[in-house]
Amino acid sequence: MEIEQKVRQTLKKINLDKRQKILVALSGGKDSALTAYLLKKFGYRVEGFHIDLGMGDYSKKCLSAVKKLCEELGTKFYIYDIKKEMGNSMCYIRNDIQTGHGKGLKNCAICGVIKKWIMNREARKLKFGKIATGHNLDDEVQTFLMNILKGSPQLSANSGAIIKNVSDKKFIARIKPLFYIAEDDIRKYVKLKKLPVVFEKCPCLLDSYRKEVRKFTNFLTTKEKENIMKNFDSLSEKIQKLKTEDKLNYCEICGEPSRNKVCKMCQMIKQ
Ligand code: SF4
Ligand SMILES: [Zn+2]
Repeated sequence: MEIEQKVRQTLKKINLDKRQKILVALSGGKDSALTAYLLKKFGYRVEGFHIDLGMGDYSKKCLSAVKKLCEELGTKFYIYDIKKEMGNSMCYIRNDIQTGHGKGLKNCAICGVIKKWIMNREARKLKFGKIATGHNLDDEVQTFLMNILKGSPQLSANSGAIIKNVSDKKFIARIKPLFYIAEDDIRKYVKLKKLPVVFEKCPCLLDSYRKEVRKFTNFLTTKEKENIMKNFDSLSEKIQKLKTEDKLNYCEICGEPSRNKVCKMCQMIKQ
């Protein structure tokens, strides 16, 4: 199958080691479910990690889809209950941030920072070598175009099927096995394989800028999206040559790896 071949090529390109344990960030949606399914199918050592964001019925459906998927795959999984661990659901945490130090920050920007912070820390504690996420070709084309439209293409420099230019003992590298797979193909494949997933969109997905860019990318063919990412790859290689390896500090507050003295997570939640 073409989709499997493309993912195998991506994994080869990033030189993914079969001995290393990979923690798959499972949201309950189709992309991360397919990521876990294919990594497992190709013989990688995968386990699942789900953050229960406590967002009502939507989160309950996601949690149950993740449990079902991991049972079907015979994969061990971990559940991080944000209400138990951080005292509140994502909606409350986000609201506090938006009315405090994070005025103007979008829902997904806040949620994304918090989830990355949790994933890195937990994956390290559990001694995983990599974190796999379900980002697909459409997500990556949108992000790349958004960075260009904002006049900051360099923001994409470290991106790719594997995060580049960052190496630190406290930082767990993130990989995106579906980097070159279009969303439509993922939807079809997941339906064909009858994987238990939630197709409903997150109720907090309110990134209007991404929505606008998505309207444009929806008009593109898969070939055109692939061509954009080919441009991205060559541009990113050129930027990489000019850059030295990013040196990470450790956040003065939480001790997690950060480019600044205080990490984005601690900057957002400081009272
Ligand atoms: S869509 Fe946005 S708000 Fe919803 S879970 Fe994803 S990052 Fe968080
Ligand atoms: Zn911090």
